[in-house]
Amino acid sequence: MEKLPSPCCTDAPLPSNVAHSILVETAFQLCKQIEASSTEQGGVPDSLLLALYSLFQQQLLLQALDLVDQDRVTNYTLPKENKDTSSQVCWEKLVCMVKGSTNKEYTCCISTSTNHLHCSCPSFRFSVAMRKETVMCKHLLAACLAVALHRGKSVIVTKLRWEELWESSHTQ
Ligand SMILES: [Zn+2]
Repeated sequence: MEKLPSPCCTDAPLPSNVAHSILVETAFQLCKQIEASSTEQGGVPDSLLLALYSLFQQQLLLQALDLVDQDRVTNYTLPKENKDTSSQVCWEKLVCMVKGSTNKEYTCCISTSTNHLHCSCPSFRFSVAMRKETVMCKHLLAACLAVALHRGKSVIVTKLRWEELWESSHTQ
């Protein structure tokens, strides 16, 4: 009987889509840790910043931090249905608008529960979705960092509008 190769003994690289989704997951975990430390300690420790640097190209990270600094991220939120006043971030589904460097507006949709990421910019389509060269475009990274650092604006939109924006990220 032919012996099946043991999965732990293979040197074969991970398929690119698997490696990509592990990187997406890692990026989300990092953003959640950044949010926790900025909420609890009022700052981000160097270890988390170094982890960000190791996960993203320096240029992309600096561009994203610039967008956060310039308050170019708007987080679209739903009206609160109950009296819950906690400002805890809902990472399950995020819809943000990020104004790019040429003032063009891009819609970013993020779901950490399904590892769904989408930005309406051309860079996302080519570098992230098609070539998988990087985990996020600068707008998505800026959106995640703005939410994690409690920066940027927050705008309440109707459930219908929010769902329209969310759906658009699945059909483009
Ligand atoms: Zn983008």
